[in-house]
Amino acid sequence: SVRVRFAPSPTGPLHMGGVRTALYNYLFAKKHNGTFILRVEDTDQTRFVEGAEEYIMEALKWCGITPDEGQGIGGDYGPYKQSERQAIYKPYAEQLIANGKAYYAFDTSEDLDKMRKQAIQMKMPNWQYNSVTRTSMQNSLTLPEDEVQKRLANGDPYVIRFKMPRNEDVRFEDEIRGWVVVNTNNLDDKVLFKSDGMPTYHLANIVDDHTMEISHVIRGEEWLPSAPLHVLLYEAFEWEAPKFAHCPLLLRPDGNGKLSKRDGDRLGFPVFPIDWFTADGEKYSGYREQGYLAGAFTNMLAFLGWNPGTTQEIFSLEEMVEAFSLERVSKAGAKFDADKTKWFQQQYLRAASEKELTNLLREEVGDEIKDISDEYIAQACHLMKERATFVEDIYSEGEYLFKNPTEFDAKTVRKKWKDNAAELITAWREALSKIENFDAVTIEETFKAFLAEKELGIGKVLPLFRLVITGKGMGPSMFEITALLGKEESLQRIDANTP
Ligand code: GLU
Repeated sequence: SVRVRFAPSPTGPLHMGGVRTALYNYLFAKKHNGTFILRVEDTDQTRFVEGAEEYIMEALKWCGITPDEGQGIGGDYGPYKQSERQAIYKPYAEQLIANGKAYYAFDTSEDLDKMRKQAIQMKMPNWQYNSVTRTSMQNSLTLPEDEVQKRLANGDPYVIRFKMPRNEDVRFEDEIRGWVVVNTNNLDDKVLFKSDGMPTYHLANIVDDHTMEISHVIRGEEWLPSAPLHVLLYEAFEWEAPKFAHCPLLLRPDGNGKLSKRDGDRLGFPVFPIDWFTADGEKYSGYREQGYLAGAFTNMLAFLGWNPGTTQEIFSLEEMVEAFSLERVSKAGAKFDADKTKWFQQQYLRAASEKELTNLLREEVGDEIKDISDEYIAQACHLMKERATFVEDIYSEGEYLFKNPTEFDAKTVRKKWKDNAAELITAWREALSKIENFDAVTIEETFKAFLAEKELGIGKVLPLFRLVITGKGMGPSMFEITALLGKEESLQRIDANTP
């Protein structure tokens, strides 16, 4: 059965690349009636950041990417946080020592620094701890056995390293990239278990994926270089490896390098799902707080690296589940597209129900509209949503639906407010005041009859009408606007705003 995991490290807020990895895992799990697991990888205590785990959970929740099992949910394979699994890992590291796949290394960080410096002096900048260099280091492969036992008994600090075989081709078939082959001469003897009693990412990740019966490892391209080591670790344990799928990088819009927070700041686009505040109070902007709808965000994100192979672009999460496959995830890096992101948001705003928009607008605008009925706000949303990108635009662009305008579009005044303007508007007010059923259709019919009677073109009167009612030069149907404002308010505005 399909079991996949999203395994973030709580080292800071989740970048949108991380959310996309979670999304693809979620879609893949749902598509195959599988299980989507959230596992927290916090073995590197030096990089732990307060609040990051909560941030990750809240971000996933906002996106609707809900785990079936894991941290914060529970399940049969817990605990789901590596720091709470600490006792599990050591025996596995020792198992590898026992079967000759790993060894103890006693080198201090000063020893290693010295070694690195020497390598640089000798113009070998790519120095790594491996079968060539380890002979001069202090480890259980180079020290006599009794010396090793003495050091261990003495409580000398040590790490456990993987014994990387030399000159072997490691190959595996990545679900997205196809065959990947790496020669082990390019790989070092990675630390599996640290002197602080914690496993490294590599060991914990493999042990957990195995014991949690993960079937597919779907993760970002930045982990591709670790995959050969992981494959070798599965072999060393004589475990069947899961299938691997490495998702493409998220690139800057110009394709030049990875999308970073700085690019986001420059483009005026968030690269995080929700707001984050650093310990010293710096704010990282999130899509949620910028007014994006969660559906627009996940839809946009899904398309950064995947496409359905059809022209359909708008997908609910359920539709994405239906359409998703790893075969349609591309190898090439995905360029972030700011305009497209806005476009998705507009589409989602238009598709949102008036009821949903009403609730969101109340959250956004609060006090200013607290005395206005839901029904009225819903109608205002209906009128304005085609012209808005964010919920708040409904209010900022359509403020005249809620109060008498105090500013009047200068260009319309200059171009349209001619000598006979006041006279025309007063005549039209007269006709308006006589309408009994003050609905949009009747107002429009009355207006047409008025134009016909006066033998005037629409462009002569409508802009004046719009100006005195809304203060604007453009906007939605004036007949619908006046119908919504009601007769009394409309006539009052004409009186108040006609000079
Ligand atoms: N903890 C790793 C991360 O932060 C997980 C990598 C993986 O999925 O194997 O991305």
